[in-house]
Amino acid sequence: MIMPAIATRTFKMFQEESSFRKLVKRMTQKISKISDPVKRARFVHRKINEEIESQFKDQMVEKLVQCKKGCSACCHSQVAVTHSEALLIAEKVEEGVGIDYERLHLQAKAGNSAKDFFQLTYEERACVFLNDKNQCSIYEDRPSVCRTNYVLSDPKNCEIRKGQSPSVQLLNTFSADTWVYSYFKLGNNNGALAFLLQRVLKEKDNQIKFPLSKEY
Ligand code: SF4
Repeated sequence: MIMPAIATRTFKMFQEESSFRKLVKRMTQKISKISDPVKRARFVHRKINEEIESQFKDQMVEKLVQCKKGCSACCHSQVAVTHSEALLIAEKVEEGVGIDYERLHLQAKAGNSAKDFFQLTYEERACVFLNDKNQCSIYEDRPSVCRTNYVLSDPKNCEIRKGQSPSVQLLNTFSADTWVYSYFKLGNNNGALAFLLQRVLKEKDNQIKFPLSKEY
């Protein structure tokens, strides 16, 4: 099972707490009631948004968080998604959202390996949905892990040009992370965004134009 780093950290910190385990149980029960994968992804995204919005009601949080529109440092790292998130994103591609197929192909070659992914150059590692204004072209439907990273430390520390793990201080997003953990725990087909999306797009290949498909 592939699990995002922050959700794993939350699990390791609280796994011994019975209240945490009960919370995960409640969340997984709610998520698993939704059988339609796209609706399931949207449900979890909405829950994560609600948790984050509630944190941002605190003016101190608003003041301390350093993330700004157009800053895309974290969009140059490998993003984990569930299979249902890959299906949701594939729908956006089918609807016409632009995607850099060349980068998709390059990144997908790394499979689920972070080590191989970080062998790519900084430019090659840019998310396939990062547009020329350094903004996310699927913002409303971005993956769950893209919704939970809020930096408190100096944004200069987010620099990952050399492919090393950044030393950044993140906002504690426990409730949102627990939704992410519960969501990924249910899936046995999670993976890196490019790798999984390429696979889903290949499966849909007969329905959409996929310029590089003949090379795979
Ligand atoms: S999906 Fe959007 S927010 Fe997430 S890494 Fe890609 S560009 Fe960034």
